[in-house]
Parts: sequence; structure tokens; C-alpha cells
Amino acid sequence: MRFSKLLIPTAKEAPSDAVLPSHIYLLRAGFIQSVGAGLYNFLPLGKRSLDRVRQVVKEELDAAGCQEVDLAFVTPAELWRESGRFEKYGKELLRFTDRKENEFVLGPTHEEMMVNLVRQSVKSYKQLPLHLYQIKTKFRDEIRPRFGLMRGREFLMEDGYSFHKDEEDMKREFDHMEATYSRIFTRLGLDFRVVEADSGAIGGSGSKEFMVLADSGEDTIVVCEGCDYGANIEAAVRAPKAAPEYEEGEEPEMTAGEFQTPGIKTIDDLADFFHIDPHHLIKAVAKKALYDEGREAIVLFFLRGNDELEETKACNAVGANELVDVSEEELRAAGLTPGFMGFINLPDGIRYVIDKELKGETPMIMGANKEDYHLIGVTVPDYGDFFADLVAVQEGDRCAKCGGRLHYTKGIEVGHIFQLGTRYSEPLNATFLDENGKRRPFVMGTYGIGVSRLLAAIIEQHHDDRGCIWTRESAPFDVEIIVSNIANDAEREAAEELYRLLKSKGVEVLLDDRKERFGFKMKDFELIGIPLGIVVGKKLADGQVELIVRDGLERIDLPLERVADEVL
Ligand code: ATP
Ligand code: MG
Ligand code: MG
Ligand code: MG
Repeated sequence: MRFSKLLIPTAKEAPSDAVLPSHIYLLRAGFIQSVGAGLYNFLPLGKRSLDRVRQVVKEELDAAGCQEVDLAFVTPAELWRESGRFEKYGKELLRFTDRKENEFVLGPTHEEMMVNLVRQSVKSYKQLPLHLYQIKTKFRDEIRPRFGLMRGREFLMEDGYSFHKDEEDMKREFDHMEATYSRIFTRLGLDFRVVEADSGAIGGSGSKEFMVLADSGEDTIVVCEGCDYGANIEAAVRAPKAAPEYEEGEEPEMTAGEFQTPGIKTIDDLADFFHIDPHHLIKAVAKKALYDEGREAIVLFFLRGNDELEETKACNAVGANELVDVSEEELRAAGLTPGFMGFINLPDGIRYVIDKELKGETPMIMGANKEDYHLIGVTVPDYGDFFADLVAVQEGDRCAKCGGRLHYTKGIEVGHIFQLGTRYSEPLNATFLDENGKRRPFVMGTYGIGVSRLLAAIIEQHHDDRGCIWTRESAPFDVEIIVSNIANDAEREAAEELYRLLKSKGVEVLLDDRKERFGFKMKDFELIGIPLGIVVGKKLADGQVELIVRDGLERIDLPLERVADEVL
């Protein structure tokens, strides 16, 4: 394709809200265009990269025996009621009604829809196993859409659902998908880790996440230097530590006063203090309260910076993963004053709270968000244990698997595989007849890849201070031919001929035939990040062109007639 004809609106600057390299470069290089919070248009280059990534995903899934389908994006609320998620899902779920007052949701994920499809068309164990997937737009009304394609509200996801006659077969598919997803991310040129995402109710490896290693990642993961163990901080386990031994009556008494930590004023500060992601801190606290203490419900609320209550979340007993928003009114009804950060258990009263208005009924366990908002002189009997469990693994702890040291690192979640069991097939009454003619619910697995997020993840890992460096299978084009001076007939003709030759060999080529200065074109080449460039310029007089490897910007002079072989 010709640069002169393509819509590639490159720009010198990115908007100030773009802080991550991927966000900045994808905007500046004309891959995407922002339309609103978490909403993006894909321009020609962006669409090409997205399609190529999608193609890699499709090829590997098809080869792994999965079948592509395409389900309605607008999904009847009725199905979500059947599964119980219509009420539970929270504000990320966009609900709306049509002109006849029928209720719908924009699919954030498609378990209900897929179970509905299968319950209507699969009746016998003979039709199992079955793995259906789609690569389709999802909508989640994220509370804080940010970082461009990383956390959009509308985004492209590959979501797969497998149906099995029993647990054993579902686990086989789970392992098969771990291998398949790993192949996909390897082909895309990513440095990633597969980590345990859940150490709780389901057990060791019921859920795994694929984390692209990048400092900008929103997830904190724990990896072992001695083996391949890796886990999300929420799920990480360490080798047991010996408990400190105290003589009777010798236990140190802890008081709130001792824990006044200047500088910890927001949950972000606190998370920072413990080196963990704020999101995970919240989830971990919720989990701790739910699982360890059998609480029925918990509300989490916190304040950022000023006095405005920016985020309230509650989660139900299912687990901290299902967070729902709580209104300020509800908080007040529960006897709470917005404007502090803390954790509280609803059914049987307040437990872990920070607020001077709540007086001394409850132990203070954390830093307050405002100066002098600590409870002074309150005994905090289990502060230490609470956080020891909460932040289960500390930097440098020993790994339970091999005894090696554990380290924190940051990751971008690009994929997630999950052993679902009968969580959806039971409530939706999706059953089959087994070998003995007995009706049983499908045992399911679910799998997801953030296809559009992958574009951001690839650039987070592959860029320099000049722009993007696309990996081979994610690049919008394989090669860019840059005509140094388009007014020079010899240069233009040689470039055109090379362009035709490479295209005839199936190479995706971008020909920069614009009437622009050479320096300007080179800047665009560096910004856009096509893996290989061929400069047809002055050296052509000696029959030479210059091959540029975008990664490292190494330049090699080559005879014109050899360059095609070099590229192929
Ligand atoms: P996150 O923890 O980042 O919010 P998630 O755990 O909610 O992601 P899943 O429900 O596991 O996401 O969805 C499968 C995949 O979809 C994720 O692994 C991620 O790559 C991608 N994804 C999820 N939310 C978004 C989003 N808002 N924008 C882009 N991709 C997303
Ligand atoms: Mg999410
Ligand atoms: Mg996640
Ligand atoms: Mg996930």
C-alpha cells in the first residue's frame, strides 16, 4: 500500500492524559483515535495490526480444535437473571431497554449466551467435548478506563467456552488451553508468565492468568527465581514461616498509636507501602474478611486525595472478584460517613474501620486518609497477622515449590483461563445425557484473551524513545520502503519495482512515496515501527539500498538486487 493514499495521521504530540508509551505511540502513530473515555476508533494501521493479532489467535485456536462462532452482542437480560448475574454484576454491566421496554445488556463476557446456545443444541455426551469461541467486541463500563487500549470500555476479546462430560475432561482442556494460549503469546513475541490467579476456593490451578511482564502493568505478580512458579499477588503462597515464639505474657501489645504512619493518607499510599496494587489490596482485604471470617458481606470504600468519595465498592459472599458499586446513600444508611477509607462488614456491624467518628469500638488497622484521623490509643491485637496474611508473600520470601526466592514484578493481564465447573450450566439448566442415560449439567471451562489490549501490551514491551517496534506477527506491514527523494526518477522507479516484487512474494509492504523530506519520512518510520525499512536513496547510484532493522535501528547497505532475498 502507498503511504500517500493511506490515512495515517501521525502527530508530534499526544494528549496529556496519555502517559504510557503504548498509549502515546498508538495515538501519535495514527493507529487509534480517541472518541471518549475508554472508546477508540481503529484507523487503517491499527486495524491491520488488530487483524493480524486476531489472525494469530484464530489460527492457534482452530488448530487446537476450537470452533469459532459469533454471538449477539446485545444480550437479553433474561439470561443474566437466570444465572443470577443481572443484579450481581455491578455497574460494569451496561443495562438498557428497547422501545418495548424489554431489558438487555451489552455483553461484557458471554457465559450465559454460550450456555444458552449449547443447551439448545447439545443433548448427548457423544457431542462432547465442545469448545466454542468468538473474537468479539465486549463492553464493560469500567470505573476508570485508562491507558488507551489497555483498559477500554469497548474492547476486543477472544472468549472461549468449553463443555465437558466430567471434571477430568475439563481439566484436560484447561491444560491444553494453557499450552495453546502460550503458543499465541510466544508467536506474538511477548515475554510473559503464566501465573496462578486463585489459591482460594477452587484450589491450586483452577484459574491462571497470562501476564506480560512490563513495569507499567496494573497487576502485581510474584515470580520465583528458582522455578517457573508465578502467581498473582492475590493468589501467591509462600513456604510457611516459623511463628515467633513468645514467653507467656511477653507478646508485644500493639496499639494504634504505633501504627500512625505519616504519609499514608490514601489507599494508594497504603498499597505503595506494601508494594501492592491498590486494586488487589482491596480485593485481598475483602477475601480475607470473607473467607477467613465467614462474613456475609463487606463494603469497601475509600477516599482519594480530596474529600470526594470517588469510589465505593461492595462485594458479596461469592468472593471479592464480583464487586458492585455502592451508593453514598447506602453507605449513610449503613451508618457510615463517606470521607474516610476503611473496611466494614455489613450484617453484624462495623469491623475494620478508620474514622474518628466511629470512636473506639473498632480497632484501627490502617492509615487514615487525613491527618489526625487515626484512632489514638486503641489496642490493635491482630494488626500484624492481618497484614501478614493479607500480603501473603513479601519480596524475598521462599517459594513453597522449590525454596527459591520470590520476587515482585508487574504484569499486564492479557489472558485468563478458568475452570468453571457447573457455575452456569446448573442455574441455566444446561444438561446432557451421559453414557447411562442420566441427565447431568455440563462441566465447563472458560478462556479469554484481551485482543485489543495485546496491541498495547506488545508496545509496552517493544518500543524505544522514538516509537513503536512491532513484533513480526503484530506489525501492520512487514516492510516499509522509503523513497528518499520522490522527485528522483531512478529512486522512484527502483522503489516501485521492489514494491511490486515484494508484494508478488506475499510480503505486506508499505511504500512511503510521499513528497516529503527524507528526515520527515524517517521520523514516521521510527514512530510507526514497521520491523524492516528499506531506504532507496543516494546510494542507488552505486546500486545499493539501505536495510534498517527497526529494533535497534541497525543499518546495512545491500545491493538492490539482493535486498528482496534478505527480507524474505
Ligand atoms: P482486568 O483484571 O484487567 O480488569 P479482567 O480479569 O476483568 O481484567 P477477564 O474477565 O479475565 O478480565 O477477561 C479476559 C481478558 O480480557 C483479560 O485477561 C484482559 O486481557 C481483557 N480485558 C479485560 N478487561 C479489559 C478492558 N477493560 N480493556 C481491554 N481488555 C480487557
Ligand atoms: Mg476487570
Ligand atoms: Mg483480572
Ligand atoms: Mg481476569
